[in-house]
Amino acid sequence: RARGLGTRYAVHEGSPEREATRHLQILTHLRTALDDDQLSLHYQPKIDLASGRVSGVEALMRWQHPEWGNVRPDEFIPLTEQTRLIQPLTEWTLQQALRDRRFMLQRGIDVPIAVNLSSGLLRSREIVRMVAQVLSEPPGNGWLQLELTETAMMEDPERSLQILRELVELGAPIHVDDFGAGYSSLGYLQRLPVDTIKIDRVLIQHVDRDARSAALTGAAAEFAHVLGLKVIAEGVETATLYRQLADLGCDAVQGYFIARPMPRTDFIDWFERQGG
Ligand code: C2E
Ligand code: CA
Ligand code: CA
Ligand code: CA
Repeated sequence: RARGLGTRYAVHEGSPEREATRHLQILTHLRTALDDDQLSLHYQPKIDLASGRVSGVEALMRWQHPEWGNVRPDEFIPLTEQTRLIQPLTEWTLQQALRDRRFMLQRGIDVPIAVNLSSGLLRSREIVRMVAQVLSEPPGNGWLQLELTETAMMEDPERSLQILRELVELGAPIHVDDFGAGYSSLGYLQRLPVDTIKIDRVLIQHVDRDARSAALTGAAAEFAHVLGLKVIAEGVETATLYRQLADLGCDAVQGYFIARPMPRTDFIDWFERQGG
């Protein structure tokens, strides 16, 4: 096909060519973002239903681009997974979580921070080195949790299992993210060194409307408890859901009903207003 002036107008919005160009652009700008302080982590609390207290926070990446504005993590993180960029991006996330951990501790807030890990990171032992590095620095161990989807863990089960064991050994418990979103075989949970399941938002948001979703959530919670795992419901947006999920046996909830993800200083203010 002839390429010349006007080609870009010939290419339709959302066409594969246009997508590819945009993806390349995002990846190029992301390299700059890493060195340029355009990235940050926002924190969303989880509430322990038995005590009503904050049981932890999830770190969610934010990218404020000088011209594009906010770029959603869903839009750029998956792109990095096919490239080498995923390594420095993960390293940045872990180091930033460590800085934020210190910042919160200095203000008297001692809650674990859950960091999301991309699928693909379990293919190489590099992730073990990165996690070991942050946990070897003050304030030491016991604050980092790792969220991984079941798909990430099932890609190469043998290799993943070895790496997961090493991560747990380092003191970083594994949480299964988006549980119930994929093919979700409950059987694999028994074989993996996981600590907690997070039931996917899409399932949770049907619990108050659809008896089958409620039954599935209840069954998943029960099964997880048999295995000694904890259960977090994500995407909780209403008081009704909050109560229902407690009745269904979930241990903790996370979602807009409690709070949106916030910059660390806003999280600290929020935490203090809550009285913990
Ligand atoms: P996720 O890990 O499943 O994170 C939950 C997403 O749901 C977040 O979107 C969060 O802001 C959103 N959320 C929380 N509560 C509610 C609610 O009540 N209702 C609704 N509708 N949404 C809610 P976000 O921050 O846009 O992140 C999207 C995805 O990007 C995450 O999904 C995760 O897969 C990925 N991600 C975010 N930060 C990182 C990171 O640092 N590293 C990696 N590898 N992935 C990340
Ligand atoms: Ca997550
Ligand atoms: Ca999730
Ligand atoms: Ca997700």
